[in-house]
Amino acid sequence: MNQERPNPYAAPTAQMPRPVASMSATGVGACPRCGSSATKKPTFTWWGGLLGPKLFSHTICSACGFGFNSKTGESNTGPIAIYFVVITVLIIGAYAVAGSR
Ligand SMILES: [Zn+2]
Repeated sequence: MNQERPNPYAAPTAQMPRPVASMSATGVGACPRCGSSATKKPTFTWWGGLLGPKLFSHTICSACGFGFNSKTGESNTGPIAIYFVVITVLIIGAYAVAGSR
């Protein structure tokens, strides 16, 4: 009986990789285009008002001005365009409904 018995209360040795720490991980929050970590999260944008930037985790690179999703690291240009079109249609629709009364 020279074999060590595993302690049932000890953490397993083969641990899952720790979840990526949102703040310290490299690449997360950094600009996918130029790699700069000088990014900012706008609370208000011309295309999305107050809601849009929150919806897309919109982050803007201070170095090159690239707008991207800080969760996916992908460009937000596509989602912004869709969002902008949807909002515009909704606003036009609301005006049309209001005007027809
Ligand atoms: Zn950049």
